[in-house]
Amino acid sequence: MPRVIPEPSFRRYSALLGAPSRGIELNMDSLDPVNPDNLGANLLNSSKPKSITTFTNRPSREDAMAAVRTLLAWAGDNPDREGLLDTPKRVVEAYDEWFQGYAADPAKELSRTFEDVQGYDDMVMLREIDVESHCEHHMAPFLGKAYVAYMPTEKVVGISKLARVVEIFAKRLQTQETMTKQIVDAIETSLAPLGVAVMIDAEHQCMTTRGVHHKHVSTITTRFTGVFKTDQALQDRFMRLAQK
Ligand SMILES: [Zn+2]
Repeated sequence: MPRVIPEPSFRRYSALLGAPSRGIELNMDSLDPVNPDNLGANLLNSSKPKSITTFTNRPSREDAMAAVRTLLAWAGDNPDREGLLDTPKRVVEAYDEWFQGYAADPAKELSRTFEDVQGYDDMVMLREIDVESHCEHHMAPFLGKAYVAYMPTEKVVGISKLARVVEIFAKRLQTQETMTKQIVDAIETSLAPLGVAVMIDAEHQCMTTRGVHHKHVSTITTRFTGVFKTDQALQDRFMRLAQK
């Protein structure tokens, strides 16, 4: 369950977002540090990416397709009817795409930096990066936008790489809270900036299409480090630019 964070941060950011009753505010600072070594067979350890093909316990493609057949039957249908014959193959191929982030390394994306920025000394921010991920509790999609900023020291990174880092973490089974922190940590580690700010705003289909059926509820997670944490004016500026 997402946690609802009490005042004052909830009120402040809700007001900045112009939607006080919408969304659930999560403050990533209150979460325990994520130890990547504890996350499922080292699959999420971004510094030591495991190639999908060498992941030792990985079932075969045929095993995966057989599992989809089982789920089709479990849903109440006949996996042998014509319309479903190719479904296991299609589902497994879709998984290749939805979960391709396990085979990619965010640190590698951020390894190429540029130092000639002509004295640029303000935040670098990407707005509305598409987030297409799947929750690790239901394997249901959650869709939304990410806002990522960092305050560079002498090193900057190609801006498309920041979007790529979001994509790599999104293409894994996730919680929005963990993903927010992983994005921050990857940028911190690779660029050693003065600070990082990340906000993700997403709708979880496990909430909208099942269970509580709360339509149009979006979950907002934020994490600030360095100057984004210590400089309230800067943090407010990030939030204003995010809702622009
Ligand atoms: Zn879920």
